[in-house]
Amino acid sequence: MVGQSSNQVKHRWADLGVNDFNVVTYKNIKALMNELEVTYKPIEDSVSYSTMDGAISYVIDPDYQAGSNHATTMPRLVQKGLDNFSKQAPIDYQDPAFAEFSIADYIHYRNTHNSDNDPNFYPVEFVQYNLYPRISGMYFVHDTMLSTMSFVAIMGYYLLQEGFGSAPPERVYVEGGCQTWSDALMDKLLEQGVAFVHNAQVQVFASPDGVDLLINHKSFEHFDSVVMACHASTALKLIQQGITNDIVNVLSQFDYYNSVAVAHTYAPLLPTDRNVWRTYNILIYGDDIQLRPYTISYVCNRHQNNVANSDYDQFGNPEFFVTLNPAIPIPDSYVLKQADGTPAVTHFTHNIVNVETLKAQTFL
Ligand SMILES: Cc1cc2nc3c(=O)[nH]c(=O)nc-3n(C[C@H](O)[C@H](O)[C@H](O)COP(=O)(O)OP(=O)(O)OC[C@H]3O[C@@H](n4cnc5c(N)ncnc54)[C@H](O)[C@@H]3O)c2cc1C
Repeated sequence: MVGQSSNQVKHRWADLGVNDFNVVTYKNIKALMNELEVTYKPIEDSVSYSTMDGAISYVIDPDYQAGSNHATTMPRLVQKGLDNFSKQAPIDYQDPAFAEFSIADYIHYRNTHNSDNDPNFYPVEFVQYNLYPRISGMYFVHDTMLSTMSFVAIMGYYLLQEGFGSAPPERVYVEGGCQTWSDALMDKLLEQGVAFVHNAQVQVFASPDGVDLLINHKSFEHFDSVVMACHASTALKLIQQGITNDIVNVLSQFDYYNSVAVAHTYAPLLPTDRNVWRTYNILIYGDDIQLRPYTISYVCNRHQNNVANSDYDQFGNPEFFVTLNPAIPIPDSYVLKQADGTPAVTHFTHNIVNVETLKAQTFL
């Protein structure tokens, strides 16, 4: 990715999608990275939450520990809710009684059933200024329907990425960006004789003997089985023979949402108070921008932990950001360019994990 200032072209990389993982919980990914000899390094694991008017503005830095008396800028009721949530929700996650709860149902349930009989167990300030803004930055949610998202799916994120219910997280980024490890994986598989076919039109014909793939409408190839790593709606279109009613029922339960990620240098998408800029920055729009109540922006320099990297200390650290679904337009001149000169912008469709989606999958 390229930024240009004072006739100087600077090259940096940024992930516009997956950008970190917790080595403590993603054990298989860690083993794979090690086998591929891919370098990963600690991110600066910090987050800020701010309203547009700055009335709420606080940070959670890496040394914050839920329930401790550690100094924090978090509003008291937000902290109370977060502390309760980080203790109680991982326990509730294990309880099958909550399997079909939406996050809103869960919050309501716990405010009416908790050991302290506290109707403010999860204060509304926590939900409004911490929980929902954080959920909005998770990749599998619908921006405007956060309350209907599955409690279990949301907890999956908190357990895996934020270490709830287990050891503190050690979140790392892949040096050079995620493309580095997918390239390394491909090289390794090529070495082992795995064949790759790119940009082919594929149709799937299943039978009790295995699977025949029709490639580019011309030739058939026979396999024992097929793994379709595309969206369920696409898989449904590609299977031409051998599909059962159960498979149709499951694959048709998913909803999708279009998102955009932009690499840029446009500071108005960050908190007004520069001192609270952290790795992840969540802006809370309140009622001003109804369609998109929250936006998450990464300060890439912090994500790639430039402070710990002597190359970039000397580099001068021009700050650059990635924003997911910007709620206000970014002027073109602030959008960074890819090495080929095209804007560093990606549009993608992602599936939504809500209660219905999870229920459908218990079928299989
Ligand atoms: C901005 C952002 C940040 C994220 N950050 C993190 C993070 O920090 N850590 C983390 O763990 N996760 C993160 N995620 C989530 C992560 O990206 C997803 O969980 C992951 O990419 C899902 O992988 P997948 O292979 O299931 O689906 P996808 O990555 O969506 O892959 C589906 C693939 O199917 C292909 N396809 C579609 N149609 C066809 C067809 N007809 N034939 C063949 N192929 C087809 C698509 O091109 C695509 O490559 C983030 C996501 C986003 C958007």
